[in-house]
Amino acid sequence: MTDRVLVLNLGSSSLKYRLLDGATGVAEATGSVERIGEDSATLMHSVGGHDHTEERHVTDFEDALRSALDAFDRHGPAIDRDDLAAVGHRVVHGGDLFAEPVVVDDHLLDTVEDLVPLAPLHNPANLEGLRVALRLFPDVPQVAVFDTAFHQTMPEHAYTYAVPVAWREKHRIRRYGFHGTSYAFVSRRAAELLDRPVEDTNLVVLHLGNGASAAAVRGGRSVDTSMGLTPLEGLVMGTRSGDLDPAIHGHLHRELGWSLEEIDRALYRESGLLGLAGANDFREVTQRRAAGDEAATLAFDVYAYRVRKYVGAYYAALGELHAVVFTGGVGQHSAVLRAAALDGLSRLGIVLDAERNEARSSDARFVSADGSAVAVLVVPTDEEWEIARQALEVVRGAQ
Ligand code: AMP
Repeated sequence: MTDRVLVLNLGSSSLKYRLLDGATGVAEATGSVERIGEDSATLMHSVGGHDHTEERHVTDFEDALRSALDAFDRHGPAIDRDDLAAVGHRVVHGGDLFAEPVVVDDHLLDTVEDLVPLAPLHNPANLEGLRVALRLFPDVPQVAVFDTAFHQTMPEHAYTYAVPVAWREKHRIRRYGFHGTSYAFVSRRAAELLDRPVEDTNLVVLHLGNGASAAAVRGGRSVDTSMGLTPLEGLVMGTRSGDLDPAIHGHLHRELGWSLEEIDRALYRESGLLGLAGANDFREVTQRRAAGDEAATLAFDVYAYRVRKYVGAYYAALGELHAVVFTGGVGQHSAVLRAAALDGLSRLGIVLDAERNEARSSDARFVSADGSAVAVLVVPTDEEWEIARQALEVVRGAQ
């Protein structure tokens, strides 16, 4: 029986894929198609330590997936469709309908379509990916893994916004949360590292990448998270504002005459680190801050302070905390951000070890001081492996 899974992750104009062993996480090949639908797309296929890159015109998602399969044919490894246990799909928004991964069928496609209003940027691409993969791999089980699923365990008082009942009942307005696949992976890995049963482990997990969020995880289950109805709420991100006063929308509209679309666009694409410092890449912000740039210094401080506030809030939400866990590109690599975010928290029992924090490693590891009552961990996330693992579980469970 094969454990091979092809994982597909479609964005608004990109496809990322990985062929891997769902049981061990070992990847055979990985790749991406960027700028689908534009004049020229970049296809990158990486296998056996070699990157094969080419520019070609890719019209749509079907063309993108066919181009990827073509790259497998030319550069290997061969994908024999009988030798695939599943195709695993990342689907961004499952609303409150999916707490688990599910096998894709026509009913599921209709349901994901119904959820498009909740994720107008992401779900249409995910839906198209599901349809195309069903056409190209008709005999292979397809499994949808939802970014929101992990957070379906949040208690009502954590996911409910203080808005009129009709908004919540008719328009599904509530906190959903995202990055769930990453939280599932990282929480399990953190419990292993702490040598505690996951059921008895309380964590504040900080997923700090281009998108960024925090989660309070009790016993392997999400009890709160910083992203909300959409992935705009919460921490400062590369180009997204995170938390702000909701009255800013009306204020901008009245002051500047901006439409809702223009305001949304500014908050999603022109805010965050980009808005504060003119750069959305955290490395650049850090380098400019080190060189004394004022805007970059403010951007860094706002970012770190927001993270610290959430650590405090979620510590209070959990009552007892075993570890603060950093993941995502920034969380995994930026020692200076980890130090700034946790600065002054020793009275809460959170103490970093400077040398461990600054040591470079790609392994999951402790960066707290020996006497720290709360551990601080860095755990590299692996969303593709988690999708493959969950896809395998569903397929095996269905057999
Ligand atoms: P991700 O979305 O998880 O790939 O994370 C992307 C973010 O991680 C970008 O803002 C990068 O600048 C940041 N990042 C990656 N490597 C480093 C590093 N060595 N130091 C600081 N930030 C980094």
